[in-house]
Amino acid sequence: MCIIAPSLLEADYKCLGEQLKTMEKSGAEYVHIDVMDGSFVPNLACGMKMIHGLKGVADLVFDVHLMVNEPVRFVKRMQEAGADVISVHYEACSNVAETLKEIKQCGIRAGIVLNPETRQKSYRRIWKLADVIQVMTVHPGRDGQHFIEDTLDKIKDIRRRSTDTGEWKDIEVDGSINCGNIGKVIKAGANIIVSGKALFNGNLAENIANMKQQAAMEE
Ligand code: ZN
Repeated sequence: MCIIAPSLLEADYKCLGEQLKTMEKSGAEYVHIDVMDGSFVPNLACGMKMIHGLKGVADLVFDVHLMVNEPVRFVKRMQEAGADVISVHYEACSNVAETLKEIKQCGIRAGIVLNPETRQKSYRRIWKLADVIQVMTVHPGRDGQHFIEDTLDKIKDIRRRSTDTGEWKDIEVDGSINCGNIGKVIKAGANIIVSGKALFNGNLAENIANMKQQAAMEE
């Protein structure tokens, strides 16, 4: 059964706490939190204080996606603020392996994020250290993009490798996922689905229910 992870970036900030409670009640097990530094990506979003403030409002896994340069600097403080999973970009780390080890040493799950142009040999090198492989299905940190179809091959390759090696990896997809394309990413092998606008435009509870239903039909 795949997990729906609403992206906080698209939430209504006037009532964040209420929206987190709605996510939990509607069966979204994760909340996906994008942290942006204005340097690795051309945008700014979210910090430790906000994560700390939201922790405990609802029973959700706090899935923190660090779109920042040298994320190792923030790992410990993010975990203390409430992160249950921390994912870092391959290209943002001068030492990816050490960064993933640092996350795991904090007692939480570690993820590696692959941009559309990140090559396959990159994730193969750090395969054993990553619990989650997050595939960006758009370019990170920019608004209004379309789902990039080529990323389906990468998802399939990761799932194949996970099956062949017998080492389970969560495959998370992030970027312009909606009820129209969720089937493709699930069929390719993804099991954690980040979605923003498709869930927050309109009625959040209904949209989560519809997406879960759509996902169940594809599994
Ligand atoms: Zn994200």
